Amino acid sequence: METCDVLIVGGGPAGSSCAKRLTAAGKDVIVLDKSQFPRDKVCAGWITPAVAEALAIDLDDYRKGRVCQDIRAFYTGVMQGPYLHHQYDHTVSYGIRRCEFDHYLLLRSGARLKLNEPLKHLQHTDDVWIINNSIRASMLVGAGGHFCPVARFLGANVGRSERSVAAQEIEFEMTPQQAANCPVKADTPELFFYPDLSGYGWLFRKGNFLNIGVGREDTGKISQSALDFVALFKQQSKIPGDAPEKLKGHAYLLYGHAFRKLVDDGVMLIGDAAGLAYTESGEGIRPAVESGLMAAEVILDADGDYCERNLQSYLDNIATRFGVKQTQDGWFPAQIKRALAKQVLTSRFLSRRILLDRFFLHSKEPPLPFNRAGIAPCHRG
Ligand SMILES: Cc1cc2nc3c(=O)[nH]c(=O)nc-3n(C[C@H](O)[C@H](O)[C@H](O)COP(=O)(O)OP(=O)(O)OC[C@H]3O[C@@H](n4cnc5c(N)ncnc54)[C@H](O)[C@@H]3O)c2cc1C
Repeated sequence: METCDVLIVGGGPAGSSCAKRLTAAGKDVIVLDKSQFPRDKVCAGWITPAVAEALAIDLDDYRKGRVCQDIRAFYTGVMQGPYLHHQYDHTVSYGIRRCEFDHYLLLRSGARLKLNEPLKHLQHTDDVWIINNSIRASMLVGAGGHFCPVARFLGANVGRSERSVAAQEIEFEMTPQQAANCPVKADTPELFFYPDLSGYGWLFRKGNFLNIGVGREDTGKISQSALDFVALFKQQSKIPGDAPEKLKGHAYLLYGHAFRKLVDDGVMLIGDAAGLAYTESGEGIRPAVESGLMAAEVILDADGDYCERNLQSYLDNIATRFGVKQTQDGWFPAQIKRALAKQVLTSRFLSRRILLDRFFLHSKEPPLPFNRAGIAPCHRG
């Protein structure tokens, strides 16, 4: 039987960030993932600079042979227009490809990797976890995304009583002819909101890759919305007429609607497994990375005694960082939806300050320091 200090289920941004912090402090960590890496992940692939900073990613190094698109402008608007242009004088985000980004993070995590190995069996006796009847660990971290088996083990009612959002996307490399004719600018993602702010669609170009997607709270409408979205922008020639039509979908929890148990004796949940994506935008990579770092810090502080009491501070740190839950609200705060949607979407000032700077870029929230994660609050109140 193999042993390790901490076993992490899931090698996405949450799992690899947690692993990196733990191995940097000398812990022996195994990351188990059901997929072989590089693997694809349904995602627009948009990260804010705070992610790169928290993980001390050398962007010059990262750019070698990988897509890392600087973003300095946006179009925003209601689904059928009118649209507003917002220019920034510096890079406010990056466009990455998840197959590259997640692989890069996992390889630099310093953990031992067990890939192509799903978690099949989990047993906890006498403070020891036995995983797949082959690995012993005293601490287990669930980082397996929305359907994480560790979350289920902790009682999550995945897909039943939980209120998830649905999103669909497709990313493909354009042919030289498609790229030449595509009017979507590489440094200017285009965001098109439903009039009631129940979700939005995007056109996001990263070099010659085009990412097209739609996310909605009312999950029953997602497939038709995605078809309509593609048809609308093919008609406007923003999407190449011969682009693939079928989008791939995924459901996940937003922070304001997620009520999973995150901590128990010898176990914690991070990232989408914990339901931490920002309620307003659906962005989940930054919360995944930050929760991974925060969990690692609490594990290190527990110093080998992983009883639930010693892990509880993770919950406080999550609340400090991501704020108090607004249970009654959907993708956007309800008051804004009802009263202000039109004003926000049609005003250049409000779109920039509220939608972009506050909801999408989190520009007032400082990056989490890699070494003492979980202390700086970033909730916007
Ligand atoms: C269409 C769409 C667009 C999005 N766009 C953005 C965006 O632009 N920016 C952003 O910040 N967020 C975006 N998100 C959200 C973001 O993708 C997630 O929040 C993020 O991937 C969470 O990271 P994670 O590490 O928690 O989970 P994941 O990235 O999902 O990683 C979980 C890992 O666990 C593994 N796993 C699952 N089950 C098992 C098992 N049984 N055994 C072993 N391993 C297992 C999986 O193979 C996977 O590698 C988007 C989501 C969707 C659906």
